[in-house]
Formats: sequence, structure tokens, C-alpha cells
Amino acid sequence: MKHEVILVTKVFPSTQEKMEADFTVHKLYEAADREAFLKLHAPRVRALATFGPFGADAKLMDALPRLELISHFGVGYDSIDIGAAKQRKVIVTNTPDVLNDCVADTAMSLILNVMRQYPQSENWLRAGKWLAEPGYPLTVSLGGKTLGILGLGRIGEAIAKRAQAFGMKIAYHNRNKKDVPHAYLPDVVSLAKHSDVLLVAAPGGAPTRNIVNAAVLDALGPQGFLVNIARGTLIDEPVLIQYLREKKIAGAGLDVFVKEPAVPPEFFALENAVIYPHVGSATVETRTAMGNLQLENLRLHFAGKPVKTRVV
Ligand code: NAP
Repeated sequence: MKHEVILVTKVFPSTQEKMEADFTVHKLYEAADREAFLKLHAPRVRALATFGPFGADAKLMDALPRLELISHFGVGYDSIDIGAAKQRKVIVTNTPDVLNDCVADTAMSLILNVMRQYPQSENWLRAGKWLAEPGYPLTVSLGGKTLGILGLGRIGEAIAKRAQAFGMKIAYHNRNKKDVPHAYLPDVVSLAKHSDVLLVAAPGGAPTRNIVNAAVLDALGPQGFLVNIARGTLIDEPVLIQYLREKKIAGAGLDVFVKEPAVPPEFFALENAVIYPHVGSATVETRTAMGNLQLENLRLHFAGKPVKTRVV
């Protein structure tokens, strides 16, 4: 008999196919009456499969008294109430490492695009402006500039490696100093002051909410760039919009926003913002690897073995 899993939202199609081949998958996102759906399946369901922003709160955990495992698709698990999971002795897994390279590539493209203004220069060409003006205005080089990484973890380290190949110097701030050759700054304001580009790669959630605020952007200054590939919640978004509008910082490259997909329309009009629809890990290869890891954790748990990538 197949084990039963509740899936909170649609996942990457090939992952979902494999999940449905191995398990009986109950689709919470198709339930007309969520409470009735949970009541119906609760007596048999021991695992939840979650995805990105579609995590699990205490209420959902309480509706599933036999819950043992939340297998999350994504490395960031700020959409899961970790305290509630711990209290209920529910294991939580995520999908780390397999996405480091893709997310770091995305970060690098944001750094390049916001500093060198490639998207803006293409728009300028497409608008026919090259015929009327001698050339696109000069931009800023990466080489010799300092990239300050807030959150030098798995993804932060992959970004540092790439940025060094572009001739950038690396500085960072974590809560704990690491054994790395990069300059360590004791707080975010000092890091911003020290950096030409401040790159945000720390986890989301309550402890980091608005960690990049007006004081940090003041320290970054009018020549400084901000890049965020972490979570929108780390940045005070209305303040960022104001600072971009008033050119109190030079530009921002953003893959993530506070309320996705409802990106504040103010960003659309800002020439000094390069914005992506949360595509950091969005390649076929990486999403396949993330899905495989999510499935492996489910299979291991149901086989009575330790899961592979446990958070708590
Ligand atoms: P990780 O290996 O856990 O690295 C996170 C780093 O942040 C650690 O070095 C940690 O060091 C630091 N940190 C944590 N809390 C901090 C705080 N309050 N202040 C300063 N530094 C702090 O995580 P990862 O795998 O690199 O992933 C990082 C984040 O990227 C994820 O949580 C996720 O939200 C985001 N992400 C985004 C995408 C995308 O598509 N855009 C894709 C994947 C991941 P200390 O513990 O020493 O502070």
C-alpha cells in the first residue's frame, strides 16, 4: 500500500509525477472545503509536502495529529512555523546545496545588470535612441569594487567565488565570523559602509525582517548598489522605493519581494531597479534536483531511515 502525503500546492510537474507514482497524493490546493479535506485525510496522513511560500503553520499541523514530516521544496523555510514543528516533534526537511550554483548565477546577473545597465541599454536601443544619440551613457565597472555579502552561507560562498572571478573584493557579515579570507564586518551598517554592492543572502523570517533599513541604505550611499536574492522581507521595501526614487542609492537588483507575486508597481517605473520574478533557482536541472531531494526525504522517512537534509 502506498503511503499518503498531503501536497499543499502544485509543484514542478516532473516532481509531482514522481510523487504521485510513489505515494497517494492528496491535493490540498484543490480542496473546496479545506477543513473537511483535512478531517477526511488526517487519520492516515503522516507527511506534508510544501513548496516555497506555501509552507505550514501551527493550525495546519494541528489539523494533522499523525504528522511526522514536512518535506519542503526550497532551501528557505521561513514559510514553515519551525517553533510549532519542534513543539510537535515534526521533522522538517529542505533542499539545500543543489541550488547554490543557479542562485549564485542569478545574483551575478543582477550585479552585472544593475551596475552595467544591460537591460536598460537594450531598452534604449529598442526604443530607437541610438539613431539620435551618440551612445548609451557610461556605467560602472565591477572590477576592484567591494561586494559586501550579508549572509555568507552556502549560496553566499558560491556568489563570492563568482564575484572574485570578476575582480571584486569580498566582505561579509554573519552573526558568526567564519574561517574565510574575506573581511568580516561586525554589523550590517558597517558592511554597507564598506561595500560598493551590498548583497543580501541571509534567511528570511522574523529575526531578519527589515534588517536592510534606512540606516543601512544611508551607509551604502548614493554610489552604492543593493542586490537581494534572499527574501523580500529582509528589506524595508517602501524605504527602498523612496531611496531609489530620490537616488539616495545608485540602484537595486531584486529577485525577491515582500508580497510575491504582487510586486509594488512603483518598481516598474524605476530606471535604477532591475527586477526578476523570483527566478533564482528556476532552471529545469535545479528544480529537478530540488524535487528529487524532497522526494528522497519522504521515501527515507517512510522507510524508517533518517532523512537526508533535516532542518529540525
Ligand atoms: P545558509 O547556508 O544557511 O546561509 C545563510 C547565512 O546567513 C549563514 O551564513 C548565516 O550565518 C547568515 N545569517 C543567518 N541569520 C543572520 C542574521 N540575522 N544576520 C546576519 N547573517 C545571518 O543558507 P543558504 O542555503 O545560503 O540560503 C540563504 C537564503 O537564500 C535562504 O534562506 C533563502 O531564503 C534564499 N534563497 C533564495 C532563492 C531565490 O530563488 N532567490 C533560492 C534559494 C535560497 P550565521 O548563522 O553565522 O549568522
